[in-house]
Amino acid sequence: MTPGRRSGAGGGWPRRDADSEVIRVLRPSDGTLVGELAVTPAHEVSQRVARTRSVQVGWASLPAKDRERRLRGLLKAIADRIQEIEDTIVAETGKPRVEATLEIMTVVEQLRYQLKRASSVFKPRRVSTGWMIWKKAFIQREPLGVIGVISPWNYPFILSMNPTMTALFGGNGVVLKPSEFTPYSGLLVEDLARDAGLPDGLVQVVIGGGATGEALVRSGVDKVFFTGGPRTGRFVLAAAAETLTPVVLELGGKDPAIVLEDADLARAARGVVWGAFLNAGQTCISLERVYVVDEIYDAFLREVLTQVRKLRAGSTRDVEVGPMTTPAQLSWVESQLAEAVERGAIVVAGGSRTDPASNVLEPTVLTELDPESSILREETFGPILPLVRVKDGEEALHRANEVPFGLSASVWTRDRSRGIAMAQRLRAGAVSVNDALMHFGIPSLPFGGMGESGFGRTNGMEGLEEMTRTRSIVVDRLGLEREPWWFPYSPSTRRMMKGTLLARLNGGLKGLWAGVNHMLRGKGR
Ligand code: NDP
Repeated sequence: MTPGRRSGAGGGWPRRDADSEVIRVLRPSDGTLVGELAVTPAHEVSQRVARTRSVQVGWASLPAKDRERRLRGLLKAIADRIQEIEDTIVAETGKPRVEATLEIMTVVEQLRYQLKRASSVFKPRRVSTGWMIWKKAFIQREPLGVIGVISPWNYPFILSMNPTMTALFGGNGVVLKPSEFTPYSGLLVEDLARDAGLPDGLVQVVIGGGATGEALVRSGVDKVFFTGGPRTGRFVLAAAAETLTPVVLELGGKDPAIVLEDADLARAARGVVWGAFLNAGQTCISLERVYVVDEIYDAFLREVLTQVRKLRAGSTRDVEVGPMTTPAQLSWVESQLAEAVERGAIVVAGGSRTDPASNVLEPTVLTELDPESSILREETFGPILPLVRVKDGEEALHRANEVPFGLSASVWTRDRSRGIAMAQRLRAGAVSVNDALMHFGIPSLPFGGMGESGFGRTNGMEGLEEMTRTRSIVVDRLGLEREPWWFPYSPSTRRMMKGTLLARLNGGLKGLWAGVNHMLRGKGR
């Protein structure tokens, strides 16, 4: 497997701020070494970007259909390495194997979607020229150049691969900086690009922590596609501002679920439990707050507890909830949990590690929460499910919308129209009705947030557009000696301009009459 090819020996957790020359990657499941990688020196990052740029020029000049044909090779490349990709994801993140497979499936679905649709982004689009009917106008899209992709550790394959593929379909090259906790999953992206026969150097991976990420932002890339926390997102935005480098920020969430009195409680409980505990809650779109209408609160809690008691948590193969991926994340979740309990929350399931020496936190359900607890306001990113009793749907909406995050949300009700109506009032980039998280798995849906959850979009046509820029083209069709408004200005120029303005302001026949009347009689005005 990939780690073996590049591995070394040793122990100890990797440094979060990796200014050191080597990164040590450890298995969250048992702390053993996955491998060691040399950090890419900061000065080399811009050299890599320059190299990718020199290759990208040729890539961008290919017709979109030719690029598409070559990118089809990624399907076979992934198929040939499925086992290795799964092994790598599991080794670095500690997540259950099913969830590693889910990562690959999500990538493949996005790839298949882009293979079908991406080239249409480049089709010139005719647009109206308004009243200037003697002109022709259209919009063309073109590649940006080199995209700097910075990815986190929680879905290290999807979040490295998806923006990279989208950038490539957009005619760009990519320099990727994966998280220092999951660099081997990032290196696979380079391997797959090579296996698919893409030009050498079109996709490159740089290794390191925050300093390497910052070097990439400052390296002269044409856009930064960043996925991570809001705090780092702010650093990235500030650094990018210095060179006016455009940025997409896919940041954290505090996603609410609203369970209404007419919900199918059995389905809602199963969906909410999966949405909260998938990847041990380390998902940007995890359900982190559940507002349950009073009338069904007790029954829903019983259903949730029934489901949670069935979950197996641990570091072995056959579990639903695996270890936390990083020690820092584990201690953050534990401190948030302690604060909630101090403020009066009741732990009705879980609440501690499966074993004090492990980094597996039991799936935990909390009730009776103080609305001011950090666990209801700041991102948790761990296996905690807070249930909050609310009077009705209106109160649920109000509470759901009161945090500064706005990534996604869900509504659970048997009345689908009511669910859609509520979805339209939720402050979120995506809302599911009677479902959880799967909007990310539908490749045609754009994904992204607002507020603390960032801006810009990935997935869907909008994600492809994000990796290109528009060029507007106007072509004159009449070839007159001069346009009416060109020099020299004369009284007739003025009359014509004012007459046209009046016609446009009034519109229709009335406007035409006002305009013509002014042109004929508006001497001196
Ligand atoms: P971080 O913000 O800590 O890190 C994200 C990436 O940025 C990592 O590669 C990190 O490197 C790098 N980085 C760190 N410092 C800098 C810097 N100064 N300049 C440039 N890059 C830097 O996030 P996590 O890795 O901890 O991931 C968890 C967060 O990601 C959560 O908030 C989660 O919600 C969010 N997320 C958002 C998603 C979305 O699509 N909206 C999807 C998934 C996660 P290193 O790790 O090596 O330090």
